[in-house]
Amino acid sequence: MKQFVFACLLILAMVIVCPASTVSSRDYTCPICSTEFSADCQLSQTIITSYTQLDGKPFGAAIVPDLLPLCPNCHFPQLQQDLDIELIAQLREYVESEEYQLLAEDNTSYFLLAKIAEHLGSSLQQIGQLYQQACWQVDGGSIHYQDNPVKFREYADLAINYFDQEAVDWLAYYGTVCADLERKSGRMLEAYIRLRELKELPLTEERLQVIDFELQLIEAGDSNPHFLSEARGDTLPWSQPDSTAVEQP
Ligand SMILES: [Zn+2]
Repeated sequence: MKQFVFACLLILAMVIVCPASTVSSRDYTCPICSTEFSADCQLSQTIITSYTQLDGKPFGAAIVPDLLPLCPNCHFPQLQQDLDIELIAQLREYVESEEYQLLAEDNTSYFLLAKIAEHLGSSLQQIGQLYQQACWQVDGGSIHYQDNPVKFREYADLAINYFDQEAVDWLAYYGTVCADLERKSGRMLEAYIRLRELKELPLTEERLQVIDFELQLIEAGDSNPHFLSEARGDTLPWSQPDSTAVEQP
């Protein structure tokens, strides 16, 4: 999972920092089905970062988003990094599914990468960014991609949905942090009122779990520290030797 996150970040980073634009043919071996093929890839590119479209698309002598070839056999997007065996097995099952293969018939490589990110449970922001890049593939702004206004609207709706959730959840995240500080300070009524107000927002399932868990703690008069994993109903951090100490929203 961490490696996959890195792959997506790598794509974004390449769009932003590389200094000159060069496209060249490259040989690929698909990690999912071992098919060997050649496709164009971007070696580097120029982006004038001070000129960015209002939808966040960088402008310059470049192909945006970066070329992301699909395997001609299984349609897996060819990421420029090695994937570990466990992840490949997990991806193979999804990529070979009927659902993925049907999607691959008429969608772009970044759309398919977003679907894979959804399947792997990547962050809302990351999935949103991949749909955003899928929009850029069909917005008619590059000779390397085909203009498709219908797909543009479809991909834009998906990106907006993820960004909206992320923004609201971020607001709700800080709200629940404040409520937790109030609860642990013994200010139960203030925490209760704050949480009831937060519950009126459109929330992700996970944020709703946290709010409901906080309300249960308040009802029980509990001012002790608790973990995000308890709200999720997962095992506690100390029973998972590999888990990191800090839980993310
Ligand atoms: Zn393949």
